Amino acid sequence: MNLILMGLPGAGKGTQAERIVQKYQIPHISTGDMFRQAIKDETALGLQAKSYMDKGELVPDEVTIGIVRERLAKDDCKKGFLLDGFPRTVQQAEGLDQILSDLDNKLDFCINIDVDKEILLERLTGRRICKSCGATYHLVFNPPTVENTCDKCGGELYQRADDNAETVQNRLDVNLKQMNPLLDFYAAKGALKTINGIQEIDQVFKDIDSLLTSLK
Ligand SMILES: [Zn+2]
Repeated sequence: MNLILMGLPGAGKGTQAERIVQKYQIPHISTGDMFRQAIKDETALGLQAKSYMDKGELVPDEVTIGIVRERLAKDDCKKGFLLDGFPRTVQQAEGLDQILSDLDNKLDFCINIDVDKEILLERLTGRRICKSCGATYHLVFNPPTVENTCDKCGGELYQRADDNAETVQNRLDVNLKQMNPLLDFYAAKGALKTINGIQEIDQVFKDIDSLLTSLK
């Protein structure tokens, strides 16, 4: 069961990733974790990646692909894996194909949790935080009883700068621009599976689950 999980910020990718790895007992491989481990183990590629990160530069695709290659060759990936945050470019996607073919393996699905940008905007800009105690609320999903007031301590609620509409819109656009060529790449291979992410979390997982059951 070799999977890639994709979705824009706010689409619920993290929650679904947790459920998938728990049910199917495959490792959840995120780019961040992979880099951290390679750096901690001081592998040659890890050290290379670190030298770029220390300079505040992007890690080149060859280095990232090399780290993925080492990670996917480990024993715990024999039953499969869930990649999260990789690939980010078509070059990386081609690198992944090469890695899998070298390992005598192949990708099963690229699962995209699809949610309209407008809905994501609502999800991502609705967060409010209490100035006094730090409790978090959401205008739609977890609103305070009294508008703009913390249920726990009566403190005033505010919106983090990261959560304002313009910043969120910008973040979504950047992500979409990065993701669209990858969705096209996997669609052309017939590996892309689009899951409707505008449903209850349980239903989203049911849809993913029935897709994965078809692999067994
Ligand atoms: Zn409070």
